[in-house]
Amino acid sequence: MGKGPGPDITTLARLDEADLRWQNDAACAGHDPDIFFPANAPGVSIHAEIAQAKAICATCTVTEQCLDYALATHQEHGIWGGLNERERRRIRRRQRQAARP
Ligand code: SF4
Repeated sequence: MGKGPGPDITTLARLDEADLRWQNDAACAGHDPDIFFPANAPGVSIHAEIAQAKAICATCTVTEQCLDYALATHQEHGIWGGLNERERRRIRRRQRQAARP
């Protein structure tokens, strides 16, 4: 299981049982969630939006747990654990390469 795109069911089952209380300490709580899902809106710099989200993540005490969650659940969009989609894809690629025999 879990070799195709999308979340691995066994991983999700484990996450259901996982302790997600780290979310209570998220620095992004209380901020507009849209900040963490920058869109290429006219007149708005996507780079500025990403920088704004990352600045909040930089103050967060649960960055590692957030990133682990995003990687485990294959979050394709947004800023998680202080990293954008492209940065998380790079990590996943390295993890796949490291897992190869
Ligand atoms: S790392 Fe960023 S997105 Fe994740 S919980 Fe902390 S502030 Fe929120």
